[in-house]
Amino acid sequence: MPLDPLGRAFIGCFPRMTEDDAWEAGRGVWKMNREKASRQRFALIVGEGVVRAVAEITGYTEHTTATGVRGALEGQPLLAGHPVREAYLGQSDPVANGSQNPVGYCDLPEEQSYLMRPCACGCGEDTDRDFLPGHDVRAIQQRVRDHFDGSPLKLIQFIDQHAPAA
Ligand SMILES: [Zn+2]
Repeated sequence: MPLDPLGRAFIGCFPRMTEDDAWEAGRGVWKMNREKASRQRFALIVGEGVVRAVAEITGYTEHTTATGVRGALEGQPLLAGHPVREAYLGQSDPVANGSQNPVGYCDLPEEQSYLMRPCACGCGEDTDRDFLPGHDVRAIQQRVRDHFDGSPLKLIQFIDQHAPAA
């Protein structure tokens, strides 16, 4: 057997495999779309039609194999109690697209609040919150400068005047 690029002793599904086993076996190396893979926050590892592990993705690596460049995901299985894990672990494959790869990509409703999105201040960086740390303050200060002559008092008076009664 050729040396596995990830240094693993086994690949594939076996009885009573743990979530760690399933993640190690399933995280690569596969034909992957780098763009797509690096945008995902969670991966479902599917073996024999059942979700064997739900992992948080922290990175992506590429490996040259006999059949071309293949990708692997880095990360770790989610801990018990994580809502995304609880929603999918042990369930039947929600993707069911006939793919031979055990790593499933799909848009999971449970992951929406964890997805990376552009920082709302407009800086062009990505964050998994509304703002990167400190950027909310920056965005407010910018508006105070642009619309209220740099006066926080004017902003507050404006809000008090126009905001719906609490
Ligand atoms: Zn920002």
